Amino acid sequence: MQSTKIKTTCSYCGVGCGIIVTNDAKNGVMVEGDKDHPVNKGMLCSKGMNLHYVVNDTSDRILYPEMRGSKNYPLERVSWDTALDRAAAVFSSIIKKHGPDSVGFYISGQCLTEEYYLVNKLVKGFLKTNNIDTNSRLCMSSAVVGYKKTFGEDSVPIAYDDIELADTFLITGANPAWCHPILFRRLEKHKEKNPKTKIICIDPRRTDTAAFADLHLQIIPGSDIILYHAIAKRIIEKGYVDHDFVKNNAENFKQYKDLVLGTSLEKASKLCGIPVNDIKLAADIIGKAKGFISLWAMGLNQSAVGVDKNTALLNLSLLTGQVGKPGSGPFSLTGQPNAMGGREVGGMATLLAAHKDIANPTHRKEVADFWGVDEISDKPGLTATEMFEALESGKMKAVWIICTNPLVSLPDSRRAEKALQNAKFVVVQDISHNADTAKFADLLLPAAGWLEKEGTMTNSERRISYLPKGINPPGEALPDIEILIRFAKKMNFNGFNFNSAEEVYKEHCALTKNTNIDISFLNYNRLKSEGTFQWPVPDYNHPGTPRLFTDKKFYTPSGKAIFNLPVSIENTSVQPNDEFPFILTTGRIRDQWHTMTKTGKVSRLLTHIPSPVLEINPIDAFKNDIKNGDIVVVSSKNGEVRVKAKVTDSIKEKVLFLPMHWGKQLENDLNRTNNLTNTVVDPVSKEPDFKFTTVSIKKYVKP
Ligand code: SF4
Repeated sequence: MQSTKIKTTCSYCGVGCGIIVTNDAKNGVMVEGDKDHPVNKGMLCSKGMNLHYVVNDTSDRILYPEMRGSKNYPLERVSWDTALDRAAAVFSSIIKKHGPDSVGFYISGQCLTEEYYLVNKLVKGFLKTNNIDTNSRLCMSSAVVGYKKTFGEDSVPIAYDDIELADTFLITGANPAWCHPILFRRLEKHKEKNPKTKIICIDPRRTDTAAFADLHLQIIPGSDIILYHAIAKRIIEKGYVDHDFVKNNAENFKQYKDLVLGTSLEKASKLCGIPVNDIKLAADIIGKAKGFISLWAMGLNQSAVGVDKNTALLNLSLLTGQVGKPGSGPFSLTGQPNAMGGREVGGMATLLAAHKDIANPTHRKEVADFWGVDEISDKPGLTATEMFEALESGKMKAVWIICTNPLVSLPDSRRAEKALQNAKFVVVQDISHNADTAKFADLLLPAAGWLEKEGTMTNSERRISYLPKGINPPGEALPDIEILIRFAKKMNFNGFNFNSAEEVYKEHCALTKNTNIDISFLNYNRLKSEGTFQWPVPDYNHPGTPRLFTDKKFYTPSGKAIFNLPVSIENTSVQPNDEFPFILTTGRIRDQWHTMTKTGKVSRLLTHIPSPVLEINPIDAFKNDIKNGDIVVVSSKNGEVRVKAKVTDSIKEKVLFLPMHWGKQLENDLNRTNNLTNTVVDPVSKEPDFKFTTVSIKKYVKP
């Protein structure tokens, strides 16, 4: 067999690094960074450079459809026809008996855009329910709403190339050194070349990102809004406001100004646990910046006030006029490789394709006409956590889960477990038996993985990449679009006569015509021959759009950006009390990805942090008689975990940190962090409050 070489994109985080894959009979698949790729210029992080292990090791793969005769019967191998006949029969019968909203689909930011588009068309257009949500709900839905409220539409205005043009960065609620490593590497290189570049990091932990920053504001979790307001107050008082921008390009400044000028820096200092002088210093650095970029991720989004945190941060860019020009802008980092593509196709329960809204009757009609269906339901679909509540209560009867592992990733894992136990019918469409959720499947469908199918993805900076098929999937696994098309045909739905991913993409692109994300002039040929494009791409010769709002025209009715005021400056999470006196915050570690179904297979990625550890401040450890390496029982009102303590002064007093990756696959579920997390969500974005659960701790004593 001859060696083949193809160019593709990393399947892990939203940075979207270019990868060259070599495949030959002797070595199997090998990967290297693509030196010509505009994102990573040849670099790869530990996860990306070990991707070939995941592809070459097929020992965990689901190889053929498996089905239970009925609940509690074992899964048995069946043909694709039998499997999809059953799926169609069960879904039809449940819908007939209980209505369309008794079924739902829960999908993933790892799905390719074509899959995302097709499953949304299937569910919203043909199954007649909007009960389709994605695990991206768990990571960036607050940012989506924040952008919409501020700019009139979900629109990341900035490109990675702006990093090398900026002189000031505010990294808040993110640890890109570990979670977006190649982006961070670009920032490091930029600072090495330009030592006067200033980096401020806001985080309750002294992460590698915080350690690299010029100023670390070690915040008490949940107090972000008042901190941004205190910074804004100082910016106004010191005369750093860009009055031209504010007057001509923004609305609601007076109300915002009145609100933030009422903020006491001393009160902010107390609530945030940050010295007044550090707040002033941060404001002065931002106020004097020539090019100011804010970067954030789950630390802001995963909150009971996630949307308000987002808009309060976005206000700082408006205040200083730092948007729509080179080297500036507010930049929400997506966690998953195609979270942004999912946003393009309206991959959430409240959205429609091409950035249209379910709440908007004109949008519903446009999409319904395009799909050739009578109508699209005006009822918002159930979001991720709502869907599992509905399964638990019995309101929803059947769920189809694609490429995600909710049993480990949703808050309050035991509730998620009960929900799946209670469901009448669970379809799991995935690549690996490693996903704990697969154990709850009544129907298990083997999907093709990365490199085994073609399609497109969009990274954090709106950059669309084409991913070619490089190898065949193992066993009888099929590309997700093929599975969905076969199911749609079993349901006798018209509108699914696609012969390839390319045809699906063509339809998706056509639907974006004359919208703000117009890619109707983009196609596979251009992506294959010209490389990646940042949307919009509004004509055949257009090179793509690295930066939005260069004309200072925003997507709001007035064309102006909006200073939004928070509903409350307080954090509305359940606060610590005598029973649960600590704040638990959760997050990612450097070498693991999500629930470890892929990275957990790679032994060299387990050397960095081989098992979950609880970060605890030395003062808290001392008071609770806990030493480094002791097993600690962490309890919340929802459950408990038992993990080793890592006593470290890098975490703030009264705050604890646990990684979110581990599930049940190790000997029991006592290492599953989401046993503890609460089910509070932001009232608008419905994103869970993973960063603020009150817990208690005690040293574990063997009975
Ligand atoms: Fe892959 Fe993200 Fe690492 Fe790049 S930074 S190699 S996209 S995991």
